[in-house]
Amino acid sequence: MTALPSATALPPTRRAVLRGLGAGVVAGVLGGCGARGGPALALPQDPQATATPDLVDLARLDPRLRLDIRYATPANFMGRVLYPVSRAVAQRPVAEALSKVQTRAEAAGYGLLIFDAYRPWRITKAMWDQTPPEKREFVADPRTGSRHNRGCSIDLSLHRGGVEVTMPSPYDDFTPAAYRSNTAAPPQALALSRMLEGWMVAEGFAPLPNEWWHYDWAEWRRYPVMDVPLEDVTAG
Ligand SMILES: [Zn+2]
Repeated sequence: MTALPSATALPPTRRAVLRGLGAGVVAGVLGGCGARGGPALALPQDPQATATPDLVDLARLDPRLRLDIRYATPANFMGRVLYPVSRAVAQRPVAEALSKVQTRAEAAGYGLLIFDAYRPWRITKAMWDQTPPEKREFVADPRTGSRHNRGCSIDLSLHRGGVEVTMPSPYDDFTPAAYRSNTAAPPQALALSRMLEGWMVAEGFAPLPNEWWHYDWAEWRRYPVMDVPLEDVTAG
């Protein structure tokens, strides 16, 4: 009887493969999207995405960053656990810029509270499939993928002394209250949102108009859409 490779033998193999190839290709192989029945929807391939993915663990890169990974709990708009691990990973330049934002926030007496960062493509697809059409302005179309799938978007808020501040709406509130153009929110909430926006923009992030919590790294287009499960990312 031939011994099967143990589960612990898999990660180094996967790591080696990830280093050797573009992650979009690897994700297609590892993800097996559409292989479990139903119409196959291919992982989007972007010819402009020529950078080699270099995902890093935010908490490891900068332990000052606080995490509140809502998709690792049922406390999200889907009402169920989507991530098997509570992790935040992003491409290295994104993470390094976020660390600089943390420094800016600290100087003002605040800290960053991270809700989400890299999101595997299969999760984006599940969100799309399970969101009513009239609410889909808030979720990415899996045919193009999300900038979160590229490890280039960050969903975040601020905390003060460990207490989450009040922003113009709750996270993932899929109503116009989440728009940056919402001026009906309490002045203090609007001021905090604008303050965070100023720091993020100063470090190279672009704010999304209809979600106060969402920011895209300016050079997101250089990175491919990825589908490596969060628990399999061997981020440094
Ligand atoms: Zn987002």
